[in-house]
Amino acid sequence: MQSLRFKAIDNLTTSDPGVNVEGAGKITAIFGENVFTLKTAREFLSDDAYKSLAASTKTGQKIERNLANQIAAGMRQWAEAKGVTHFTHWFQPLTGTSAEKHDSFFTLKSDGSALEAFDGDALVQQEPDASSFPSGGLRATFEARGYTAWDPTSPAFIMHIGQGLTLCIPTIFVSYTGESLDYKAPLIKSIEALNKAAVDVCHYFDRNVGKVYATLGWEQEYFVVDEGLANARPDIVMTGRTVFGHTPAKGQQMEDHYFGSIPERVYAFMRDYEYEAYRLGIPLRTRHNEVAPSQFECAPIFEELNLAVDHNTLLMDVMSRVAKRHQLKVLLHEKPFAGINGSGKHNNWSLATDTGINLLAPGKTPKTNLMFLAFFVNTIKAVYDHADLLRAAIASAGNDHRLGANEAPPAIISAYIGQYLFKVLDEVESRVGDKFDEQDEVMLKLDIHKSIPELLLDNTDRNRTSPFAFTGHKFEFRAVGSAANCANGMIILNTIMAEKLSTFKKEVDALIEKGDKKEVAIMQVIKNYIKDSKKVLFEGDGYSEEWQIEAAKRGLPNLKTTPVALDPLISKKAAALFDKHNVYTHAELEARHEIELEKYLKTVQIEGRVIGDLAGNHIIPAAIRYQNVLIQNIKGLKDIGIKEPSYAAQLSILTQISEHINKVKTLVEEMTEARKEANALTETRAKAVAYCDKVNPYFDEIRYHVDKLELLVDDTEWELPKYRELLFLR
Ligand code: ADP
Ligand code: MG
Repeated sequence: MQSLRFKAIDNLTTSDPGVNVEGAGKITAIFGENVFTLKTAREFLSDDAYKSLAASTKTGQKIERNLANQIAAGMRQWAEAKGVTHFTHWFQPLTGTSAEKHDSFFTLKSDGSALEAFDGDALVQQEPDASSFPSGGLRATFEARGYTAWDPTSPAFIMHIGQGLTLCIPTIFVSYTGESLDYKAPLIKSIEALNKAAVDVCHYFDRNVGKVYATLGWEQEYFVVDEGLANARPDIVMTGRTVFGHTPAKGQQMEDHYFGSIPERVYAFMRDYEYEAYRLGIPLRTRHNEVAPSQFECAPIFEELNLAVDHNTLLMDVMSRVAKRHQLKVLLHEKPFAGINGSGKHNNWSLATDTGINLLAPGKTPKTNLMFLAFFVNTIKAVYDHADLLRAAIASAGNDHRLGANEAPPAIISAYIGQYLFKVLDEVESRVGDKFDEQDEVMLKLDIHKSIPELLLDNTDRNRTSPFAFTGHKFEFRAVGSAANCANGMIILNTIMAEKLSTFKKEVDALIEKGDKKEVAIMQVIKNYIKDSKKVLFEGDGYSEEWQIEAAKRGLPNLKTTPVALDPLISKKAAALFDKHNVYTHAELEARHEIELEKYLKTVQIEGRVIGDLAGNHIIPAAIRYQNVLIQNIKGLKDIGIKEPSYAAQLSILTQISEHINKVKTLVEEMTEARKEANALTETRAKAVAYCDKVNPYFDEIRYHVDKLELLVDDTEWELPKYRELLFLR
């Protein structure tokens, strides 16, 4: 029987790549057409309802019930005109993907007649009966169920799923007692904490600032493979990555993919998902090939953080759905293929004021420069003081393959700021005396702005290796995994920044109270912060051995695996921090810690099972079939009187295969035993550590022998599509 592998290859060569793609024409003509924007709302709502929605969109303030009814009716009218029959509360549970539970507008009146309805209650709040989403014991402790609640700061949108159209209401997901069970609720709280602290600091420089909001522009990396080939790989189907596969003769060493043109079939797919994204108001801007073969990247224009997070989550979903139309599969996993680069998601983060100022862009005047320096140095201090939390925020089984593997930033959190700013900080630190006085006014006149081109040039290459790099007018958190929800890292970043800014304010105020001039006080605290946190600045090669040694000397944490990297989430320091800024309660932190550990160990557990299954049911049988061919061959040669040295090669291959089969079998048995021992542990962290230290190490060992077999066994017997096919056939 022909294996799935060869069927997929056959289909590939006979399939027609010319998929019809919509989306020709101007983007502006379709942009946001499936979003209930304020502009659309204006058409469908009364003055009062519109005003209430507009205010709520800006501030998140509560909407009165009767107005909510009107808004819901307007939304339904708009949606129905577009053919929508169902609505759903769209939320982001801690599984990392988005979730929906669809309800129809259709309902029955008491007399049994049919009616289409959608009232304010259905808009504002819903019980998704989502008892099987991870809650880390929270729901068990507090209440049996959670509910979703409308987040009016992110607009409703219409999702095309197959032929169906659904009105999606972005919501937060919380337990009845108010504990957050998703990414969005704490994200919104962290945005608010940051706003408060940042506005206070802005007022030193500009009394007109009323609001500070975080901005995010994500860069999403992903792989695209043929769907038929992917379906012939149970490991891709079950885990999103390949657990076996010998490196192809050609990998990424030629770098021809990075500079090459986008393959036609992938290009059609890209245009198609971009079309859907534009209609959903996702402002995609760039698309290009990435370093590894079959790897690509897209990035939008940055947006307000909460919306940007929703858009990234939504896009990951849209990409996966649209890929199916093209018989392609998108792999968002951090490391789908061994031996070539994995995928990340750079989170470009900055702070903007409602007066239109980017607080992380060097200014043009001494005053704005000082404001920039204040926010810039506070960020560095935040990263230094809470590097462990940032590391925890990016920890996952998938990202463990990447961090520190010389293709992604190391697991050590450091910040790269470029030579020029490094010098500026150095000068501030050394030139301002213990008591900053008038003659040091020169410091305030630092013309940082003019030197920006130099700064950018300086940024080109080396900072690829930095997990947290300043890139001219924003910080780029580059260690985030490609499959992650952006919110995880952003919640931490916002909170630690809120913490630093509020402390900064206190310290500056104290100096002012003692009689210091405002600018003098600010400079003094900045100087202290530079001194305190300089250790986290690193301009060199993050991939190098020397950095590991140097970082250890500096006392920077270097936690390589998820189960231990998550520990800081449940430290006393973290509990106090998140409680102070009203982002997580202690119970919520404990729950998140538990959930992340569970996610980790379940991922490794599933991978272990898949490895066992593939080895036993695909690899070893194929190897044995080929051995039988060799045995027949040797027998035949003997029968016609040929002597041993002439079939030495066959004998040698036969023996090598036997050795690898034995190794695979023994190792799989040992791994299964290790899994059983891990499963027997009751405490989640201990279990996760066991999976990490005792089970996971078998994966590479088993893989070594399987990949050797791939080289020895007749290609026609090999059932799993090979790397060369997955990566180069389209
Ligand atoms: P780089 O080449 O330095 O990575 P790009 O111009 O390609 O910079 O931008 C990368 C991402 O950063 C884009 O999504 C972009 O919109 C985003 N970005 C630019 N400015 C900001 C900002 N002020 N805040 C957040 N993201 C930003
Ligand atoms: Mg970038």
